[in-house]
Amino acid sequence: MEDAAEGAGEGTAQEDPPVTVEPTAATTAVTATTAPAAAGATADTAAGAAVTATTTAATTATADEAITITTGPPGRTGSTGLAGQTAPPAIAPASLSPSRAGDFMQCPLLYRFRVIDRLPEKPSAAATRGTLVHAVLERLFDAPAAERTAPRAKSLIPGQWDRLRETRPEVVELFADDPEGERMARWLGEAEQLVERWFTLEDPTRLEPVERELFVETVLDSGLKLRGIIDRVDVAPTGEVRIVDYKTGKAPRPEYAEGALFQMKFYALVVWRLKNVVPRRLQLVYLGSGDVLTYDPVVADLERVERKLHALWEAIREATETGEWRPRPTKLCGWCDHQAHCPEFGGTPPPYPLPVRVPESGGGPQGRMGPD
Ligand code: SF4
Repeated sequence: MEDAAEGAGEGTAQEDPPVTVEPTAATTAVTATTAPAAAGATADTAAGAAVTATTTAATTATADEAITITTGPPGRTGSTGLAGQTAPPAIAPASLSPSRAGDFMQCPLLYRFRVIDRLPEKPSAAATRGTLVHAVLERLFDAPAAERTAPRAKSLIPGQWDRLRETRPEVVELFADDPEGERMARWLGEAEQLVERWFTLEDPTRLEPVERELFVETVLDSGLKLRGIIDRVDVAPTGEVRIVDYKTGKAPRPEYAEGALFQMKFYALVVWRLKNVVPRRLQLVYLGSGDVLTYDPVVADLERVERKLHALWEAIREATETGEWRPRPTKLCGWCDHQAHCPEFGGTPPPYPLPVRVPESGGGPQGRMGPD
């Protein structure tokens, strides 16, 4: 999963409080499987990297183009901060990540709270479990291929949980009211099940990722900066690139597959712009339901995503300048930490912290969302 947030507040829930995108019929090229997807034979590339060969179509990359962009910023976060902490100073958005783009599409006011106000959010058990599972799957590839077994992966959980508590002490509050540790034991058991399910979907003994937790960033010709973190990048002997993302939730219904793939197409666009390589395959691995969703993008897909992101960025810029951030209530409000500040729930947003554009008519700032 992903990702990098704009401004200083990095982070995204690892277990995917859903991104709302309208259902579309454009899912014909999407394949969802519940069968194991680890059909790839392992081979060595000329560059010496073992890779998975799961695709047979025309080569889109060379081994030399294995993506080695930069290593990522430290650690992912499951929330944008810790409730009770003082929010850092507001800054105007400067870049777009899949998660924050999803926030804006879901609810512009949510985007404002997360990116501009940077209001603290409580850690969630689901998101933190997602972070933990991602860390385990990433670390497993440190072991020699033959040792990448389910027992080995599960044995990594306690150490990675300790590490998470060290790097993000706020997660400890998840179990503050659990003195006997029963809830935490259940929660760790659920993480084990997710890790175990991965082995029914992919075979890590036959995979040799060229990148894990890869931080990518590019600036489009328009000046729009895109960034994110890709869970895994595989490169086949033919040079074909596969981008893989783990989800600890369940696969969406087919009519929502397009929304789920938005993040992957975003990454594909970034890779394409950085390396001039169109990834051969985008693959979402749903550990919650045991599904694998794949999509083979073409240039037209990525151009479409680029146009969409430009339109989105224009809307974000307009809202930033005018201070008009509309709430868009949906059933996803149940996941939102900011109901106390949301007019839809009787709340009041904090004073808008950025300068607003004064209308030419001289009628005063447009659409201030909160008291000054
Ligand atoms: S509660 Fe709903 S409408 Fe309000 S900010 Fe959160 S997501 Fe938006």
